[in-house]
Amino acid sequence: MAKKKNTKYVYFFGGKKADGKAEMKNLLGGKGANLAEMVNIGLPVPAGFTITTEVCTYYYDNKKKYPKELEKQVEASLKKIEKEMGAKFGDKKNPLLLSVRSGARASMPGMMDTILNLGLNDDTVEALIKQTNNPRFAYDSYRRFVQMYGDVVLGLQPEDKHDLDPFEVILDAKKEANGIKNDTDLTADHLKELVEEFKIEIKKRTGHDFPTDPKKQLWGAVGAVFSSWMNERAIVYRKLNDIPAEWGTAVNVQSMVFGNMGEDSGTGVAFTRDPASGKNIFYGEYLFNAQGEDVVAGVRTPHEISELRKESPKLYKELDKIRLKLEKHYHDMMDVEFTIQQGKLWMLQARVGKRTGFAAIQIAVDMVREKLISKEEALLRIDPEQLNQLLRPIFDTEQKTKAIASGKLLAKGLNAGPGAATGKVAFSAHDAEIMASKGDKVILVRVETSPEDIKGMNASEGILTAKGGMTSHAALVARQMGKVCVAGCGSLEIDYKKGTMKVEGKPTIKEGEYISIDGSTGEVIAGEIQTKPSEVVQVLITKELAPTKSKVYKTYKDLMSWADKTRKLKVRTNADEPSQSTNAIAFGAEGIGLTRTEHMFFEGDRIIAVREMILANDAEGRKAALAKLLPHQRKDFEGIFEVMKGRPVTIRTLDPPLHEFLPHETKDIKVMAETMGISVKNVKDKIANLSEFNPMLGFRGCRLGTAFPEITEMQVRAILEAAVNIAKKGIKVKPEIMIPLVSHVNELKVQEAIVRRVAKEVFKEKGKKVNYLVGTMIELPRAALTADEIAEVAEFFSFGTNDLTQTSFGLSRDDAGKFLPMYVEKEILPRDPFESIDQNGVGQLVEIGTKKGRKVNPKLKVGICGEHGGEPESVEFCHRTELDYVSCSPYRVPIARLAAARAALRDKK
Ligand code: PEP
Ligand code: MG
Repeated sequence: MAKKKNTKYVYFFGGKKADGKAEMKNLLGGKGANLAEMVNIGLPVPAGFTITTEVCTYYYDNKKKYPKELEKQVEASLKKIEKEMGAKFGDKKNPLLLSVRSGARASMPGMMDTILNLGLNDDTVEALIKQTNNPRFAYDSYRRFVQMYGDVVLGLQPEDKHDLDPFEVILDAKKEANGIKNDTDLTADHLKELVEEFKIEIKKRTGHDFPTDPKKQLWGAVGAVFSSWMNERAIVYRKLNDIPAEWGTAVNVQSMVFGNMGEDSGTGVAFTRDPASGKNIFYGEYLFNAQGEDVVAGVRTPHEISELRKESPKLYKELDKIRLKLEKHYHDMMDVEFTIQQGKLWMLQARVGKRTGFAAIQIAVDMVREKLISKEEALLRIDPEQLNQLLRPIFDTEQKTKAIASGKLLAKGLNAGPGAATGKVAFSAHDAEIMASKGDKVILVRVETSPEDIKGMNASEGILTAKGGMTSHAALVARQMGKVCVAGCGSLEIDYKKGTMKVEGKPTIKEGEYISIDGSTGEVIAGEIQTKPSEVVQVLITKELAPTKSKVYKTYKDLMSWADKTRKLKVRTNADEPSQSTNAIAFGAEGIGLTRTEHMFFEGDRIIAVREMILANDAEGRKAALAKLLPHQRKDFEGIFEVMKGRPVTIRTLDPPLHEFLPHETKDIKVMAETMGISVKNVKDKIANLSEFNPMLGFRGCRLGTAFPEITEMQVRAILEAAVNIAKKGIKVKPEIMIPLVSHVNELKVQEAIVRRVAKEVFKEKGKKVNYLVGTMIELPRAALTADEIAEVAEFFSFGTNDLTQTSFGLSRDDAGKFLPMYVEKEILPRDPFESIDQNGVGQLVEIGTKKGRKVNPKLKVGICGEHGGEPESVEFCHRTELDYVSCSPYRVPIARLAAARAALRDKK
């Protein structure tokens, strides 16, 4: 990409005014833009500059070279920092020290590299000693710098998962040789020796001399940060979070302030609200006499921010003021990093805070109540999938109480990610992935997690760590992934080599054994404990909890009522039974979009009658068997109409290939032979006769009703007799009879004629009529393309996007699992098209079908009942395509309602 001259690649911030601002996130990255914004709103920020994301893109487009103008611009900004901070880079008396950090457009916590204390060498360290009168602090800073630089820039790292960190090995040897237990007991001389030993090890193992020139150090660090954009963990993280590689990262170079300059210094991380529960409290952790990484890495267990109120009321007050200022300015929950250097507070970072789905909903709803944001903003802020966290299981209280009473409570850690998880223990992320791929539920147990573990964390139900606080890597990433997490469980002794975890006085747990963790209370319990529905589910579904007793339910209810007032799309459910329909109504379903009648065929001994029907030699035999099924089907439909109370109910006639219902086991074949008075061989022959090469494209859908009209007759009779019976009880009914897998209008015509004829008969026999509709699934490309012809007959369309995807892609629903994941992995397809609708391809057929159908019949009702009906992006697509409704499984109804509201809001913009 050719760049014009004088492009601004470097943006200064500090003092009272910054070059950048919050809106420049794409160019400056989230961190850079917010540092600039913090300066602009008057917060105390150590001066620095941001090298733009454009430089990152340039760097990768130009064989890791920088634009020509960059060096000059960096020099100029460096001068400004020096002026602002009153120190000079590389100066032997008053040296300026810098931090160099990544900062992409979207936050990628811990995925890329950071270097602190840059600018230290054998000369500047002497100056630092003189300035602070604290040689231990100076050499500790130098030691940390050499370690970080050696690792990140010069590449001295463990070689595999069993290899120890080379720097830690040297550090441990030093401690052992001197009989020291804690790092804090190392003297200035020990640290000075360590600096030299580290440098020697770096030279020995990497061949690099440690650079003494601060400028050289700076450019090395900048290059390492840009390079870390393409490291494996960053790539995996981007994939998981849909972050395009083209965005690139910015690099933030900022003057160091020290939290480890003595007991009047400290460092902390905080959230303006509780990121796990969403509660409106100041939430965070700090440590006196420490550097930032001590808090985040979980090496020392930090103090809660509420304790600062007692320890230093003045600092607490100042921070609390900043907390309110930030929320008022950003209208969101913010995550901040701060450092206190010899009593002076500095803000190092502010960004929109990551939170659990649970907290996201609570915060958005609370902020509307506090008039900080509008209802529309609240709806737009919540990812519909986050509702899952409100609808999530909790432990069965009785089982949990019993487990604890019997001494199974192993330990208690921090409640870092709410919810209940139970699974088999894995001690490495890799093992967790393997176990999960075999279908096991896994709890990943680690001393602490690091960014390399994200794949394994993603594969696990829950994460348990021995070290680290609420803002440790494990806690942050688990919350973001929506995983259950217990962190900082200090009493846990984990032995990776032996594959065991142990708490003193309790039985040892081995790899593969069950444990249960409660991410809401922090409890770790041996064994498997069943989970129970969420509070919302307890109010709405099991009715064990009164609505007034649950704050969570109140939040859910408010949010859902705002969504309902906003959305245009209706939301129905796919339900085959009255109980499923009841649940769906509780979740807000406005009708049934699909009842798959065949799902009722397996209950009790109905299957015998079904098999008789399939195996019968002629229409008479089939009719006799169907007569046995009729009362069962009628009863089921009555149940559904009764609970749906006048809401529309779409019932589909028989769809799957007949051999799906046939017996396979010898004993079942024998039963059928006896029931029907024919030989076993005869039954076997008939079964063989019905087998198909491609059942998905075979004798199924309306082809069945065409060949055997008596099946359609029986089902229509069952639907309409049920409808009339319920209507006679004074309950409204709205049946919609749906014909599956139509490819040609003539197929529909034949089925429609049967429906109309049977309807007339039923109404005459019963002496009562009900209104009903006849419509069709649009689930074959030909049907979509000839929708205008089909709409001459159909009163409604329902897009069966499962079959439509299968037939558009020409890939079998039954077999796709074998190769489709590979397509997604290789990015041949952006997502599994059976999960999220393929808008460019299959979506076009939906658009064409809708337009053509409505052209002929403007009143045509159009919906979707494939699995996509509950997937947020597909719901948005349905809104844009102006469908009347989506239909999805009961537990996804709230998700679809919220997705529909968001679609309506985005449409307005
Ligand atoms: C569809 O094909 O999208 C559909 C809803 O029907 P089924 O999944 O039963 O084939
Ligand atoms: Mg289908």
